Amino acid sequence: MDENSFVTALKSESLQALQGIPKSDLHSHAGRGGHISFFEKYAGVKITPRSVPFENLSEMNQWLKENVKCHLPKGAEGYLKQVEASFVQAAADNVTVLALSFCVDEIQLLGGMDAFTNTIDGMCKKYAPNTALYPDLALGYFREEVNDLEEILAGKWFSGVDITNYLGTYTMDELKRISMKAKDNGLILKAHIGEFGEADDVWRYAEELGLDQIQHGVLAAKSEKVMRYLADNNIQLNVCPTSNVMLKVCADYKTHPIHALFENGVRVTINTDDLLIFHSTLSEEYLKLYKAGMKATDLELIRQIGLCGERK
Ligand SMILES: [Zn+2]
Repeated sequence: MDENSFVTALKSESLQALQGIPKSDLHSHAGRGGHISFFEKYAGVKITPRSVPFENLSEMNQWLKENVKCHLPKGAEGYLKQVEASFVQAAADNVTVLALSFCVDEIQLLGGMDAFTNTIDGMCKKYAPNTALYPDLALGYFREEVNDLEEILAGKWFSGVDITNYLGTYTMDELKRISMKAKDNGLILKAHIGEFGEADDVWRYAEELGLDQIQHGVLAAKSEKVMRYLADNNIQLNVCPTSNVMLKVCADYKTHPIHALFENGVRVTINTDDLLIFHSTLSEEYLKLYKAGMKATDLELIRQIGLCGERK
């Protein structure tokens, strides 16, 4: 496909044409990247997508439990079905560069690093053979997770580390030690910052931890100073528009901070976060932003940035 085909697909608002063109998803949580239709088919049930925003993350998690997880087997079997759905979705939407994040307890659930990596690699090959997988190790869920860090990173399987809960689990000094370990192992360092909180947090944590990429980071758009810092240091924001709308980070796609970030020279990519919950595929994300006023040629540029893959 040449680059004009994506622009044409956007201008003709053809979801089908968009689906046929290679894309990247650099911010997707492994067990939550599938499409509702996969689970409807698997369980033989009807699942109604959430139509109004969630009040908070716990309400969101509750929705997932009551609408999807309740139809799945418990433990490893159910988890693997969720991961399978993520790969099936990547193949269906032609996501050729995919950064999925996995937590330490998911590695433990499958019996440790060797069993875990063999299983996930096997699933990628089986369900998304044309997708290059860049796995991220998600940290920040529980303090004991760092006990396994040496052993996990020694496996040389992960491409990056993604700090998901920068306020709740660790002190800044502890986060710096984790960052150093990630960098010593040659990994891309990401963190979930600037989804909630303050614009200045984005700058502070990016600088203190030496972040290569930021998951969300959209609150940076509130400050020209922070946007200039991100642009000058070429720090990439992996933005997830529907996630932000569904969690009331912004009101709609027309007022989404990605417009200001892009116009201010910040390197951005477009991603899904939790497709299973937010019910918007990557192709739909691009189309929504086009309909909200972004230029097709700018969205093509963003697609190309994402396809450069994972970089430091
Ligand atoms: Zn996320």
